[in-house]
Amino acid sequence: MDVLAQRVHLIHEPQTIAMSKKARELMAKGIDVVNLSLGEPDFSTPQHIKQAAKDAIDNNFTYYTPVAGIPDLREAISVKFRRDNDLHYDASQIVVSTGAKHAIMNAIMAIIDPLDEVVIPTPYWVSYSEMVKLIGGVPVFVKGTLGNQYKITGDQLQAAITPRTKAFLFSSPCNPTGSVYSRQEMQQLVDVFEKHPGIVVISDEIYEYINYAGAHVSIGSFESMRNRVISINGLSKAFAMTGWRLGYLGAPKEIAEACEKIQGQFTSGTNAVTQKAAVAALTGSLEPSMEMARAFRRRKDLFYEGLKDIDGLITNNPEGAFYFFPDVSSFFGKKWGSYEIGSATDLCMYLLNEGHVSMVTGEAFGEPNCIRISYAASEEKLKLALVRMRETLGKLVSV
Ligand code: PMP
Repeated sequence: MDVLAQRVHLIHEPQTIAMSKKARELMAKGIDVVNLSLGEPDFSTPQHIKQAAKDAIDNNFTYYTPVAGIPDLREAISVKFRRDNDLHYDASQIVVSTGAKHAIMNAIMAIIDPLDEVVIPTPYWVSYSEMVKLIGGVPVFVKGTLGNQYKITGDQLQAAITPRTKAFLFSSPCNPTGSVYSRQEMQQLVDVFEKHPGIVVISDEIYEYINYAGAHVSIGSFESMRNRVISINGLSKAFAMTGWRLGYLGAPKEIAEACEKIQGQFTSGTNAVTQKAAVAALTGSLEPSMEMARAFRRRKDLFYEGLKDIDGLITNNPEGAFYFFPDVSSFFGKKWGSYEIGSATDLCMYLLNEGHVSMVTGEAFGEPNCIRISYAASEEKLKLALVRMRETLGKLVSV
């Protein structure tokens, strides 16, 4: 007898986490793996933020908080949205959660009924499709191609919309491609949404500061979109705070209240100490974040120079986040020793076991011809990864 609920069989473990687990297993055996599979800044949380957390503990700020977040944090987020994004959410429209992942799940649970369709551009962040499926919604994928820097056009969006479309869910800057929608490109999408006033947009902007393309554009700042965008953000990437677990959303009042209601039954308010640290992060100097963004830019340039010269691999030149998303389909059908490469997943396993470089198959992101490489690693490690990739991929021969 299968004791598990059907919904468990509908979803997969995130392959980002699975690959990282495999890399750690090899490392535990003493093998020196360059792990480029996780979306995690390798910097330390800035000192003033850590200090705020220490002060919170010393001041016994260790009790349950209001479900949607402490008032000073909700206010700080409201101010941040206005300051950085031209988004006008009152503090009462902000819900603080245990990571942006949790905020997205709250948003989906608040608006999606079984069989409602959610349009998701591919490649997409691993959890979007699984979260939608988990609550019985139907993900509808729209294919972004390398030729268009993995961004979708207004026409493509229009073609995917049906009477069942309830929401559109995307990230810019994008994980896994690093693509960034410009104002003009976003305007094309907005033009389509104007014809479909019932569609809610969930806009995941967690990589907002890691953007080499110019100003970050929030879709919720377009005048015609103001009342139907759920803007998602968090501390993990901007302030190197992945383990602290804090994300947040701003939403139309009715949706924010629904998220609060749902969260009240699941987790209550997020970690009290982290919330105090978040106030320091959002109201303090952004210079440490900008310094990290500059380091990511240097690494991106360095890695791009090496990657574009690897035979058989066709890479994008990302504009933000900290990922490359090259097409590796030319290696399919090749072999070396007992390895036969039939897919991007096979290639990742080969690169891990033979080359000791860990990255993630594009299958996890809805694009089976590609792999995702995170360059959130030191320049030294990135150089080593390039040498290993060139050597290991160079060994593959046609059958
Ligand atoms: N959205 C995207 C696009 C991400 O890449 C991630 C983290 N990998 C998240 C959301 C989740 O972030 P958090 O750590 O705040 O849950």
